[in-house]
Amino acid sequence: MADTVVESAIANFLASPKTAYHSIEQLQKAAAALHKSNLCVFCVLRFLSFELGSIYQQQAGVAAKLEIPNARNSPCVACLGILNYDLADHVVSKYHEERFDAANVVIGIELPKSIAIRHRSMQLFCSSNDEIPTRLSDVVDIKDAMKYMISQRLFKECGIYAIGDSQMRIDLVVGHSESASEHQFLTGQQDKSDNINRKRRNANANSGDSRIAIINELAACSDEKFLANFASPPPAVLQGVQLETVSFKRASLFIGGRYLKLERNISQTPFIIGGRRVAELSVAEIIGEPVKVLTRCDSYNLVGSGREDADVRMLGDGRPFYLECINPRFTHLEQWQIHDIEHQLALNSSPVQTRRLQLIQPEDTKIIKEGEENKTKHYCALVWFAKQLSAEKLEEINQIGQKELVLQQKTPIRVLHRRAPLVRPKKILSLKVVHIQERFYKASIESEAGTYIKEFVHGDLGRTTPSLAEMAGETADILELDVESVSLDFPPP
Ligand SMILES: [Zn+2]
Repeated sequence: MADTVVESAIANFLASPKTAYHSIEQLQKAAAALHKSNLCVFCVLRFLSFELGSIYQQQAGVAAKLEIPNARNSPCVACLGILNYDLADHVVSKYHEERFDAANVVIGIELPKSIAIRHRSMQLFCSSNDEIPTRLSDVVDIKDAMKYMISQRLFKECGIYAIGDSQMRIDLVVGHSESASEHQFLTGQQDKSDNINRKRRNANANSGDSRIAIINELAACSDEKFLANFASPPPAVLQGVQLETVSFKRASLFIGGRYLKLERNISQTPFIIGGRRVAELSVAEIIGEPVKVLTRCDSYNLVGSGREDADVRMLGDGRPFYLECINPRFTHLEQWQIHDIEHQLALNSSPVQTRRLQLIQPEDTKIIKEGEENKTKHYCALVWFAKQLSAEKLEEINQIGQKELVLQQKTPIRVLHRRAPLVRPKKILSLKVVHIQERFYKASIESEAGTYIKEFVHGDLGRTTPSLAEMAGETADILELDVESVSLDFPPP
């Protein structure tokens, strides 16, 4: 079976109109010359210009047919052993370990910088060798060969396709310390001490040393200069490559909805000052943790359409928000699974509940950001005045409150440590104050986004003007505050 694969691949290759080879003997001669310069079977096939296909998986058959000894102790001088190294094994086992539910994937590969230098050296070797008539433009790229072999395995063992564009990426970084300074004659950095060069390699960010710089220098380098600095065929190496990292990255998944905060002292996101947690619970964690379990994501971010303070409740039909799940393993969510999270929060009388929790599209998250500017909010505040207000005073305040009121609001003292000191004009759209008993009042306030309501009530030492305290002519304090509604239509129907 394996023999027929090899035989028919060779027959097709020789019959192809674009081939530079016309007999098996000619192929064998070229293969022998390539193998003698220390190439592995894969690289022999690449430099003979065999198109990627099942023949690449038949090393022993190819070696027998082309009469090249199969066993080699030292790593291949062209691929540094990459094509013999079982990179695909690592990728497949990591994929199984992580249990992604992707249907397809993009494979990204970062090779040792010396691979490009060694490829040039091999090109020069082939073009100066009459036994190797391969057209250099037909040589198979090493990255394409790696991707081919990895994608074959991924499809067979994990059932996923490697394609050009996908929500999921596998990135491999392959290193080879032994040849790490081979490009230095090109980038003019060979004069630096070894120590500095090692540091530079480790930093991997120096522009003169970057991959692009090396490719450009290589293109600009004459054959004479190249051959004066580098052997052709490439020199032998003792060690093969190392796989430095294999990482899987999946595009974020977005879940949108509205949250209700039925108790006080819950921050929107984990609230930590100087390493200490200020509020024990956060909206983000109460909603995010069960979503994390469901999607097996690395982490999550909650983005709300504005935020209330930790001691302010969020009532009514809740505040619009979305949760970004970063690098989710499981994305084929059914609406019932998401609804179940909402249902469990309600069932357990969680202090944070959700409404209309659902999968949303990445572009829907813009609604939250844009809504930031133009939504309005209704608040209900429990207010205390230093003295009970007269009926006339209350009437006067409510008269003013029927019309739009423009405030000049300086950045509140309590947020000055994290916000720039500015004066912001803000609108109170309506205000209604009702006496409860003694010096306690209930204020219903409708305001535009970004208004600091606590400061509108007590005046923030004159930093917000006018304020309810100023209108009443009395010291005022806010005892409790609830957000009753946030007028933004989200999530989209
Ligand atoms: Zn090789």
